[in-house]
Amino acid sequence: MATAQKNFHDPFDNHFRTLPEPNRDIQTKRVTVNQGVISSVENLTYDTYKVVIRCNEDAKQIVFEAGQYATITVPGCRKPRSYSFARASENENKNEYSFFIRLVHGGKLSSWIAGGNREGEHVKISGPLGKFGLDPSNKTMVCIAGGSGMSAINAIVEHACNEQAERDCYFFYGARTQADLYLQEEMQEIERKWNKNNTFKFIPVLSEEAEDSDWDGPRGFVTDHFKNEYLSKGVVSVNDMKAFFCGPPVMIDLGVEALQAAGLADSDIYFDKFEDARSPAPVIDNTKCVLCDECLMVKPTPNCLVEATNFKVNGGGNVTSFERVQPAKTSGLYYNSLFIDENECIRCFACVEACPHDAISVDYDKVPKTLRKYS
Ligand SMILES: Cc1cc2nc3c(=O)[nH]c(=O)nc-3n(C[C@H](O)[C@H](O)[C@H](O)COP(=O)(O)OP(=O)(O)OC[C@H]3O[C@@H](n4cnc5c(N)ncnc54)[C@H](O)[C@@H]3O)c2cc1C
Ligand code: SF4
Ligand code: SF4
Repeated sequence: MATAQKNFHDPFDNHFRTLPEPNRDIQTKRVTVNQGVISSVENLTYDTYKVVIRCNEDAKQIVFEAGQYATITVPGCRKPRSYSFARASENENKNEYSFFIRLVHGGKLSSWIAGGNREGEHVKISGPLGKFGLDPSNKTMVCIAGGSGMSAINAIVEHACNEQAERDCYFFYGARTQADLYLQEEMQEIERKWNKNNTFKFIPVLSEEAEDSDWDGPRGFVTDHFKNEYLSKGVVSVNDMKAFFCGPPVMIDLGVEALQAAGLADSDIYFDKFEDARSPAPVIDNTKCVLCDECLMVKPTPNCLVEATNFKVNGGGNVTSFERVQPAKTSGLYYNSLFIDENECIRCFACVEACPHDAISVDYDKVPKTLRKYS
């Protein structure tokens, strides 16, 4: 769809610039913030939990599409974390939301989930976020997930199955050993219910299973198995394929590389990377910002993205100090620049999606034009 342009008078630079029209579609999809309780926690494996959050009967429903995610805040953990909705919304009970959460050793939120009986605990849930999801075509779905990346892909295949999508689906799941496998019966059920004119195949691939075990399925890295046994042998073709990746960034990068090398267009590749504090935070180009506040309305934590002024920068262009503009004293229109505090950012990328002017980006290599004016 072509993007309409408009002229914009930048009050700080005192000149007119051309900017795209805001994307109304995004602006009508602000997040819903609900209080809820953990209604159940179930072990899927020794380190992965199915966590169901129930919101109040009268709470606003979080209307999400399969593939999207929410942020969750739990007691004793100051900042929220992002988790993909793990079931198609039509398969959930009213006001309930399921997540698959994998224990990260030393990780605050996941250790809290794993560390005791959490049923009945009060939590906050905000969503939906993200654009990952099922496309409307009938092209073959190649889904590749690792670890708790099963969550978003499970929601997507549940939804495609409910819709009786007229397309084949190959779902490759990468795990270390048999002990890391879960949802195998549910995958068989999806295979039984899948559109009878098409194929659904669930292919678990184990990378660290003992040589002498009873496992007779594929071994090695999931992306290698997909590339060598399916892509190279023509079982699936880049001419009729949409790829859906979910899970650790390294796995996704390898899979995307293999598909790009085979000629699949970027527009046929969708992914949801489970990034965390080790990934760089997004960057703001304040020269593109029109102070519309959309990003501030979706941010999951008060201090990640802030209105600020009086920046001090060192010789390398890094901010060494700044003053927060107090929202109670000035309205949004009067703030000087927006600033992302890397230590507060949870890498949810909600601000990137919300910005109608592409002022916030995950273009990590770009030299961040963080500030409108240095003082
Ligand atoms: C869009 C999105 C969707 C996500 N969906 C899911 C989901 O459905 N299920 C799920 O389990 N997780 C998901 N995650 C990851 C999740 O948000 C948290 O990062 C993860 O649960 C760790 O949180 P924590 O509080 O336990 O660890 P933290 O306290 O945040 O981290 C502790 C330390 O461990 C590091 N760390 C974090 N994750 C890992 C890791 N995997 N391996 C090694 N070190 C790590 C951190 O960088 C930090 O140094 C998703 C992330 C994103 C961005
Ligand atoms: S700065 Fe952006 S990516 Fe970081 S936590 Fe806030 S909204 Fe999410
Ligand atoms: S950075 Fe935030 S305030 Fe600026 S244009 Fe984007 S969404 Fe609006």
